[in-house]
Amino acid sequence: MKKIMLTGCLGQIGTELTLHLRDRYGNDNVLATDCNKTGPDEIMQSGPFEVLDVLEADRMADLCVKYKINTIIHLAAILSAVGEEKPQRAFNVNMIGLFNVLEVAREKQLQVFTPSSIAVFGESTPQNMTPQDTIQRPNTIYGVTKVAGELLSDYYYTKFGVDTRGIRLPGIISHMAMPGGGTTDYAVHIFYEAVKNRRYASFIAEGTRMDMIYMPDCLKAITMLLEADPVRLRHRNSFNIASMSFAPEDIAAEIKKHIPDFELTYDVDPVRQAIADSWPNCMDDRCAREEWGWKPDYDLSLTTKDMLEKLSAKLNIKL
Ligand code: NAD
Repeated sequence: MKKIMLTGCLGQIGTELTLHLRDRYGNDNVLATDCNKTGPDEIMQSGPFEVLDVLEADRMADLCVKYKINTIIHLAAILSAVGEEKPQRAFNVNMIGLFNVLEVAREKQLQVFTPSSIAVFGESTPQNMTPQDTIQRPNTIYGVTKVAGELLSDYYYTKFGVDTRGIRLPGIISHMAMPGGGTTDYAVHIFYEAVKNRRYASFIAEGTRMDMIYMPDCLKAITMLLEADPVRLRHRNSFNIASMSFAPEDIAAEIKKHIPDFELTYDVDPVRQAIADSWPNCMDDRCAREEWGWKPDYDLSLTTKDMLEKLSAKLNIKL
């Protein structure tokens, strides 16, 4: 039976992943942790929660012993746009935090799952059908720490036998928690603004395609790889996964099918645009499909329909 500890559980992914894993493995078997002290009642009340800053290695080790943890899902990180404002903080949290996780995993032989990102790629990477194994020269501190994190995780697997696994997540579209300061956040904001105001000014320019994934597929991918037969895994850190790739005008066209008077304008942020321009248009995820059976359920059309329904109910606004 899995005994899981999540770090950074109060963010965009952790908020939903914690509940998903508690459903799957039992509430008491999933310890939620974050450096923030409070979060949604559903998380704080459905199972154990502890405050943990991932820079505190001793406390991390103590919690693993106290809760008999055998798997760490390491979500705590500083994301791309925030990282460019605070590069030293991003280095510390993303690198030292992961190192602390890997060290405790080495000592106690725990499984470790760490999401990587499309941010591991850069301008010299092939932009279309970006291969699994290719050039990785990112131009953000976030990307640099994610590449180093992939290498470090592979090192702990080959050198110490730690069962490390990861996926290169695209931008995530979701409706429970707001995104935490990434370059793809526009693809969430656009839905909130469409429901609330029927208009949105995108900080990403027309024609900029990036990979995206809907949260239910993200949860599915993490669970599938966590449970995948290790014998089949030729790669470990980290797998390309893809489900849809679009530009702002494509998502606006889908929203217009449900909200005909929705209006998209542009107010481009040069920092986030430069990051977006250096990321792939779409990734080749054949290795994930072949090695652990990855297959998404949601395309842009299904995602748009579901997001608008869920947000209309959440915000209590009729479409
Ligand atoms: P988020 O920013 O929404 O949440 C991160 C959480 O980590 C927050 O709750 C924050 O309080 C916590 N945290 C920050 N510093 C911490 C510290 N020192 N100790 C403990 N907790 C700390 O991020 P997210 O979107 O949920 O991302 C989770 C993981 O997935 C990250 O590794 C991120 O790089 C990766 N990822 C996310 C996306 C995306 O679009 N959301 C895309 C690709 C990869």
